[in-house]
Amino acid sequence: KTRTRFAPSPTGFIHLGNIRSALYPWAFARSTGGDFILRIEDTDVERSTQAAVDVILEGMAWLGLNHDEGPFYQMQRMDRYKEVLLQMQAQGLVYPCYMSMAELDALREKQMENKEKPRYDGTWRPEPGKTLPAIPEGVRPVLRFKNPQGGVVAWDDKVKGRVEFSNDELDDLVIARPAAEGEPVGTPTYNFCVVVDDMDMQITHVIRGDDHVNNTPRQINIFRALGQEPPVYAHLPTVLNEQGEKMSKRNGAKPVTQYAAEGYLPDAMVNYLARLGWSHGDDEIFSREQFLQWFNLDHLGRSAAQFDEAKLRWVNAQHMKAMAGDALAPLVDVHLAKRGITSDARLARLCDLLKDRCDTTVALADWVARFYVDVQPEADMLAQHVTDSVKPALQLLATKLADCAWDKASIAAAIKEVLTASALKMPQLAMPVRVLLLGTPQTPSLDAVIELLEKQKVIAKLVAG
Ligand code: GLU
Repeated sequence: KTRTRFAPSPTGFIHLGNIRSALYPWAFARSTGGDFILRIEDTDVERSTQAAVDVILEGMAWLGLNHDEGPFYQMQRMDRYKEVLLQMQAQGLVYPCYMSMAELDALREKQMENKEKPRYDGTWRPEPGKTLPAIPEGVRPVLRFKNPQGGVVAWDDKVKGRVEFSNDELDDLVIARPAAEGEPVGTPTYNFCVVVDDMDMQITHVIRGDDHVNNTPRQINIFRALGQEPPVYAHLPTVLNEQGEKMSKRNGAKPVTQYAAEGYLPDAMVNYLARLGWSHGDDEIFSREQFLQWFNLDHLGRSAAQFDEAKLRWVNAQHMKAMAGDALAPLVDVHLAKRGITSDARLARLCDLLKDRCDTTVALADWVARFYVDVQPEADMLAQHVTDSVKPALQLLATKLADCAWDKASIAAAIKEVLTASALKMPQLAMPVRVLLLGTPQTPSLDAVIELLEKQKVIAKLVAG
């Protein structure tokens, strides 16, 4: 059974670039009948916040990226990490290192001078026949992992293909900070926690951002030291913002939840994000179900994808068009409620009538609202359209509509009679009526619009002219 995970660090509000790293492992689990696990990597206590966790949970719930297990929090798993550390210590897989910060700095400087890559030189690594330096007074050691020496560590990345690192490029990683007085072992470090989690949670496929590629060889070596086979890895290329920079909060990326407030549909967002780094031929618009049927790791893109808000709006508009009015109605109602508007049975039909003109549910709510509030047309617009020459026709329309059954056909017949009697062309009558009723000269066909307004209100507005 496949098991994937999303492991965000709650150190900033999760944006679209981040949540794409949740979409693919979620889709892979769903499309293979596997499990999707949510793990919050909150070990950076200084920078992690509950507000950021909330945005992760809300954003995933909004997009329907439901998890089967979790959320697990790394801070709650410290005892388990320490247990594994102690076990590794007992097996001789780690060793204490007493090198001070000053010594490490001096070493790094010397290496830089010699144009070498800075790395720990193994001073405290025990070897048969090697004499270690005398343990300095009062220094608490870190624990370092005995990285294999010589050879390569390699994996077949589902996105990048074969990736190889020479073990000699990797130094002995610090996997625990100095233990506090009386504690058997100190706080474990990031790469180690990730391995213990991926091992304990039996993750089969790690699908994550390629900013972690350099961690992967270290993680694989720790896995093997623990006697485990590492999972399959897929490292996703970066998502760039519209300026071509790596998407980040610092350069204006919005929190995912903001898109819900702006009127995007979860399915449209899933569709858009899916295409931002994965493809199925030329298919641009697809449903969630279709995506899950098609999704596989073989068609993940290798190059960075660029976010394009205009494209997102277009995808959203396509999804809105494809939705029935009664499915859109509750989504639009949320935005109406925010404006203090209580909708009624007309809402689904209004959505059907107006959805093709809108690319977000907020824009649709703007339109629908005109049918619920008393729109006061701008003076200029009134002067331009509601001229003295059309006023008699408007009065006549009011009279005809007063005796009219309130359905589209009857309303259309009434309009026709007025056109004949007044010798006006349709636009000459329709424009002023639209301005009076809805405050804009551009609306769907007049009979359809009038039918969805309240009769008394229509007549009163026409009479008042
Ligand atoms: N916590 C890491 C991040 O937010 C992801 C770690 C992983 O997926 O292995 O970038």
